[in-house]
Amino acid sequence: MNKGLLSVDEALERLLAGARPVAETESVPTLSATGRVLAVAQRSTMNVPPLDNSAMDGYAVRLADLKGSAPRLKVAQKILAGAVGGPLAAGTAARIFTGAPIPPGADAVVMQEDCTAEGDQIVVKKMPQRGEWIRLVGSDIRTGDAILSAGVRLRPQDTGLAASIGIASLPVCRRVRLGLFFTGDELVMPGDPLPPGRIYNSNRFTLNGLAHAFDCEVRDYGIVPDSLAATREALRRAAAECDVIVTSGGVSVGDADFVKPAVEAEGELLMWRISMKPGRPLAFGRVGRASFIGLPGNPVSSFVTFLIFVRPFLLKTQGVSRVEPHSIQARADFDWSEPDARREFLRVKWNTRGGLDLYHTQDSAVLMSTAWADGLVDNPAERAIRAGEMVKFMPYSELVR
Ligand code: AMP
Ligand code: MG
Repeated sequence: MNKGLLSVDEALERLLAGARPVAETESVPTLSATGRVLAVAQRSTMNVPPLDNSAMDGYAVRLADLKGSAPRLKVAQKILAGAVGGPLAAGTAARIFTGAPIPPGADAVVMQEDCTAEGDQIVVKKMPQRGEWIRLVGSDIRTGDAILSAGVRLRPQDTGLAASIGIASLPVCRRVRLGLFFTGDELVMPGDPLPPGRIYNSNRFTLNGLAHAFDCEVRDYGIVPDSLAATREALRRAAAECDVIVTSGGVSVGDADFVKPAVEAEGELLMWRISMKPGRPLAFGRVGRASFIGLPGNPVSSFVTFLIFVRPFLLKTQGVSRVEPHSIQARADFDWSEPDARREFLRVKWNTRGGLDLYHTQDSAVLMSTAWADGLVDNPAERAIRAGEMVKFMPYSELVR
């Protein structure tokens, strides 16, 4: 066992216990609500469709008029989508188009391919069933039906659904203000020259991208030098403006790691060594009213720990009700013969045979592995994998949402 290490599940449980959903809600136009978290469940105040209407271009008829082998009817009216026809007189048909309301008296629509038009008459070649090609009032949604639950992040089809029942604005949770900063004297921004010994601040890009993918209002405080004063100053600023602060680097216990003492000086901190790979150190605490999560500086570790810990924490803070990611059982097309004593998150990619390939190195300093991959295999401690076995796969498409 890993003495002194916290399991991923224990860390997650403690972390989530400390996440408080934002209380404020606001009303936004349905047109700009995609990506927001719905604060109040929505019910329909109308039937969809609101009237019986035609599912085809054709002719609305009365079955009682269709006697004999090739009945002939006079086309007495034409009903376009958006119009309302008059009652259908006996012995007549109505030319009707998809979506147009069924005229009173009609009990079927004959599609135009099953009729022959002759002047102002049609000959019906194929007898319809009662109700054929009629979409009934309320067959999609009935008045009072629950259509969207509270705590879902609205997708384009959800806002479309809300609009289909006439909802012009939606109550959503306030966006979470997420503060980011990046500790490390070695960091340089792309565009600036790279002196010997320095590295580019790639975490700024990865974490900003993730923050936007989770629809946060991002405050990016940039690079913070490795000093206690600078780290405390950055924390104070971020805490005054943000709900959640996420940082990269400086959470180990090296000479240049000032995050721990800085958070302790400005607020409260729990330091966790987590039994996971990549990952291990994670700092969780509070500065003023803001929650604080300190990720390791290593780019692979910060990416993976964001997905495993910051993601559910943010979702809960945002008001999302389901925070655990969907995973699927998938076939490993690789051997993993020297498993770690810690739970591992392996970078893998779908292959064209429907199985998973492993990136050739799982070294946590290799950022290429995360970009190459389609997701992570969640592999329990000490579990060796043989090609052909099923493993727990978490696609990025489930993790980054
Ligand atoms: P630290 O957690 O500060 O000890 O950093 C661990 C490793 O990650 C070191 O090799 C750092 O140079 C690297 N690192 C720290 N911050 C970043 C960053 N923002 N972007 C890329 N690499 C980083
Ligand atoms: Mg550092």
